[in-house]
Amino acid sequence: MNILFMGPPGAGKGTQAAAVVNDFGIPHISTGDAFRLAIKQETPIGIKAKEYMDQGLLVPDDVTIGIVAERLQQSDCEKGFLLDGFPRTLSQAEALEGILSQLNTRLDHVINLKVDRDKLLARLTGRRICKDCGATYHVIFNPSKQEGVCDIDGGQLYQRSDDNEESVGKRLDEYINKTAPLLDFYESKSLLRQINGEQDIDTVSTDIVSILRG
Ligand code: ADP
Ligand code: ADP
Repeated sequence: MNILFMGPPGAGKGTQAAAVVNDFGIPHISTGDAFRLAIKQETPIGIKAKEYMDQGLLVPDDVTIGIVAERLQQSDCEKGFLLDGFPRTLSQAEALEGILSQLNTRLDHVINLKVDRDKLLARLTGRRICKDCGATYHVIFNPSKQEGVCDIDGGQLYQRSDDNEESVGKRLDEYINKTAPLLDFYESKSLLRQINGEQDIDTVSTDIVSILRG
């Protein structure tokens, strides 16, 4: 099953992806995670991506598309995959069509998590992530049992450097200007399914699973 999660920064894509990839045994492909790893490893792509990510701007399409094209060719994607945070521009969406058709496959589901902009700032500034396993928490909406410590592996929780008010404002503008138009692109292909992402985490999960198993 080939799945795409859409939605603004903070909509809950990463949180929901963790449950779905576990259930369906498919890889989670997050371009944000791929860039953060490249930054940590100080690769040329990481150095380039950092310039943009630090400013809350989208990384250029050529860099981003290359990463995804390479990843989707790996054999673990043959049984399906979950794309989270890609595509974010129309050029990326068109490139994805080409990549998938070369691999003789297509998207099965495009799920859009709808959350109003006024809720996203609180979600993003309160987000905390495990430095070891990447599990996502929220200081108020989804706290770890012990403050600052991951429930799963005891790893230390950290706050992403771009989860501050200034960067979040820019990321939300980038979303409105460049990514939101993709909803029409997938609607016109009759692939788009809307989910109310403002419900609690478990209810959103139930709604997603019912679409995927539908
Ligand atoms: P995205 O990957 O779309 O940017 P995340 O999954 O990282 O979003 O979620 C952003 C923040 O909001 C995290 O701190 C997460 O714990 C929290 N969150 C996710 N889903 C919900 C929800 N349904 N209700 C409240 N908070 C949520
Ligand atoms: P969010 O929680 O905001 O959805 P991500 O982890 O998906 O964050 O992305 C973090 C940053 O990585 C983005 O602000 C952007 O700079 C970069 N990025 C991730 N995916 C893409 C993409 N498909 N195209 C361009 N830039 C991207």
